[in-house]
Amino acid sequence: MHSFSFNRPTDVAAAIAAASATVTAQQGATVRYLAGGTTLVDLMKLGVERPETIVDVRGLGFDTIREDEDGGLEVGATVRNADLARNDIVGANYRALSEALMAGASPQLRNAATTAGNLLQRTRCVYFRDVASPCNKRLPGSGCPAIKGTNRTLAILGTSRSCIATHPSDMAVAMLAYEATVTVRGANNERRIPLMDFYRLPGDRPDIENVLQPGDLITSVKLPARPQGERAGYLKLRDRASYEFALASAAAAVVVKNGRIASARLALGGVGTRPWRVVGAEKALVGQAPGTELFRHAADVALARAEPQSENGFKIELARRCVIALLDRLTAAGEAQ
Ligand code: SF4
Repeated sequence: MHSFSFNRPTDVAAAIAAASATVTAQQGATVRYLAGGTTLVDLMKLGVERPETIVDVRGLGFDTIREDEDGGLEVGATVRNADLARNDIVGANYRALSEALMAGASPQLRNAATTAGNLLQRTRCVYFRDVASPCNKRLPGSGCPAIKGTNRTLAILGTSRSCIATHPSDMAVAMLAYEATVTVRGANNERRIPLMDFYRLPGDRPDIENVLQPGDLITSVKLPARPQGERAGYLKLRDRASYEFALASAAAAVVVKNGRIASARLALGGVGTRPWRVVGAEKALVGQAPGTELFRHAADVALARAEPQSENGFKIELARRCVIALLDRLTAAGEAQ
């Protein structure tokens, strides 16, 4: 039986203080914020997560979605995935995000899982979730059995000799394409971190997955206003049509003006150790006339650095086709008015 302390603070300062106090009092202590619990509780049952302190942040008022002055959208950290997917503004202006959310998990999980929890969900690598196996992400230096073992669903981009695990989020891929910013409250300040800079590559410390500091609390995610005439979407390819993680996915947002692509944003899921934005492919698209040949070239650029594992070489072609099919879909109807 693993025991832990459970805190339910009534304001943000108290939540951060509770988390920070535990870290200060016990070197290396594990603190976890609890919202939907769809990852944390699962991993606690498996013995993968063994926090000393849990801080419940559900009552702190981060459950709203509001338009900001500059036309963007501020999404509270504890907004449920289902509520975000069904939001009218998200459906109208952030189509890739609503499609990504609806492609994720199951209705039950979407009704419980939250914005910040989705960003922070852990990999589905089978060895990570099995405490009888070594795993550098759970215990740095213990080894990575996936490299020579079961790796069909794992990453082909951003891998290291220590870890090849895929980031599992769909939502984060769409948010990355929209150049979202994460608002974080720490013990001494509030800061905004571009999602592009939020996740770390595994390197030799795959256990450190993002740039959050001990005690940091995500309070919201900001989505910038969208350009007029933008078309956006999310395409997810997986082993079965629902309740399954991506083998490869893509989120894209494009504007076509006067027969040319005026702007493009493109990110990949299911293939990277973090949600994977492909700026080089975006550059290859801009200024060009849309068409399948161009999209093939952009897909080649996006996957140029892919390094397949023993079981997942098929992901390179799958991700290429995913990018091409999505861009074909978004541009097939011609220019938006
Ligand atoms: Fe652990 Fe990463 Fe290796 Fe999976 S791929 S066993 S998560 S170190």
